[in-house]
Amino acid sequence: MNVRRGDTVLVLAGKDRGKRGTVDRVEKTKRGFGVVIPGLNMAKRHQRARSRTQSAGIIDLPVPLHISNVQVVCPRCNKPTRVGHAKLENGSQTRVCKQCGEQIEVTTK
Ligand SMILES: [Zn+2]
Repeated sequence: MNVRRGDTVLVLAGKDRGKRGTVDRVEKTKRGFGVVIPGLNMAKRHQRARSRTQSAGIIDLPVPLHISNVQVVCPRCNKPTRVGHAKLENGSQTRVCKQCGEQIEVTTK
């Protein structure tokens, strides 16, 4: 998986093309994997009242963007980049920026 939660990504398609956001979650969709970015690719959803605490109305929901429609922005060089994979000395896999060659770390809270 090239894109992970916590990554900064550039949107390549859709109405928010050219914008950047932080991946909130990666989820499996019918078309493959999608990433949810709060505030981007929002859609109106008509919501029925399911309980007394949840009122009916139109709410904004971020719709998952297909993973091929976003590009990871390298936290080191701040450029949208393709992601490579490298093996560390301790045997674990890491992701590297194809632009500057630095590792891409993910800060997951
Ligand atoms: Zn880089």
